[in-house]
Amino acid sequence: MDISQLRSIPKVDNILEWPEIKRVCREVPRALAKETVRRELDRLRGALYQGELEAMPSAEELDAMLCAEIKKAAQPSLRRVINATGVVLHTNLGRAPLGAEIAASAAFAAAGYSNLEYNLEKGCRGSRYACTEELLCALTGAEAALIVNNNAAAVFLMLNTLAQGKKAAVSRGELVEIGGGFRIPEIMALSGAELMETGTTNKTRLSDYKSAIDLGAEVLLKVHTSNFKITGFTEETALSQLSALAKESGAYMLYDMGSGFLIRPETLGLHEGAYIPDAVSECDVVCFSGDKLLGGAQAGILLGKSEPIALMKKNQLNRMLRPDKLTLAALEAVLRCYIDEKQAKEKIPALRMLAAEQTSLLETARLLAARLADCCPTLHFFAEPCADETGGGSLPGMELSGAAVAVEGAPPQVLEEKMRANDPPVIGRINRNRFLLSVRTLMPGDVEEIAAAFSKWGAGL
Ligand SMILES: *Cc1c(COP(=O)(O)O)cnc(C)c1O
Repeated sequence: MDISQLRSIPKVDNILEWPEIKRVCREVPRALAKETVRRELDRLRGALYQGELEAMPSAEELDAMLCAEIKKAAQPSLRRVINATGVVLHTNLGRAPLGAEIAASAAFAAAGYSNLEYNLEKGCRGSRYACTEELLCALTGAEAALIVNNNAAAVFLMLNTLAQGKKAAVSRGELVEIGGGFRIPEIMALSGAELMETGTTNKTRLSDYKSAIDLGAEVLLKVHTSNFKITGFTEETALSQLSALAKESGAYMLYDMGSGFLIRPETLGLHEGAYIPDAVSECDVVCFSGDKLLGGAQAGILLGKSEPIALMKKNQLNRMLRPDKLTLAALEAVLRCYIDEKQAKEKIPALRMLAAEQTSLLETARLLAARLADCCPTLHFFAEPCADETGGGSLPGMELSGAAVAVEGAPPQVLEEKMRANDPPVIGRINRNRFLLSVRTLMPGDVEEIAAAFSKWGAGL
């Protein structure tokens, strides 16, 4: 190592006076800029010591590099992205989008004070959930409702309250891992419930559940197999049969639906998907996510009979799992849309995307392709049919007939990377060695941003 190289590293305070850096610092807190410069110089010093770097970059190179790093450090890490994957409830991209209108009606709760736990008529403490819970009951026919942080929390609270120290029968075909390591057998063990494995992986009959009851099961738990599908020689016991058995034997009927609709899926043109009110009428308690097919905010929603819901509200765990005011405000705004089915389909982005028909998506893709061809003459754009997905572990194996713009004229990996590096990032996908931008999942204004991204490409930037 050449000591003179280490000596040539400029001082942090001097660097902060360089004209370009000073200009960047006008838009960035000085402390953040200083910290970033110090960190980068440390990194260079380390690389010189280790021999990974032979010489310090030139002053011009250092200037450009530090400017870029300071700008990067000033950007919020959570950024808006354009979802052109065609996966409506994309787990990596934040699942259900709320849309500007619903998000705006939730923003007031964050911006100032609210009557979160205050009864305005009586001038005393009120319930933070009352209004949203009433709405949920009205929309589903449930006697009572409870909202927690997410559905994983809902499942845990349900089992801990109603199945602790009891035998709970679950089909071997439903002992699933949902994602992020959330496994039903382990959650049951943690909750204090005793798992009774019932039936087989591919077939679980009513008689299997009857045997479980005979062996002392006091809870029947049904779990939606959200992220896979077993096909072939299979048999699943209908919920109505299970529920009749539970009633007859005095066992609790619990159902982790994972995800469900508050309007009939047929009205969205879909042939699959559970209708929440149907499940509510068959069970003591059902639970599902707020940000899957419901199209709302992250939450776990528990619906059911008054007695088991009241027990869950009294569980100490409930206080630890309660949602914040932003969630409640967003959820209420979404649920209000459901009062009128037509409004729900228009205003809730996830429902609008799920209901979009291929003919209209193809038309959108044609317009987008023509627009992009104008912006970027060096690439070729083709509107074509594609297969989209609901995503989010909601309707496994179901394809949605969609439409995409396929881009040719550059390697797909390069296109994918370049679009991902755009501000805002445009997330597409590579299919059969072609880069595709699916139009189903675009939000208002996204077309402009995609056009701007390809204009930059066309200009060689
Ligand atoms: C998604 C899902 C969960 C977890 O829900 P989160 O809202 O992500 O916590 C639990 N059970 C099932 C069946 C699911 O599909």
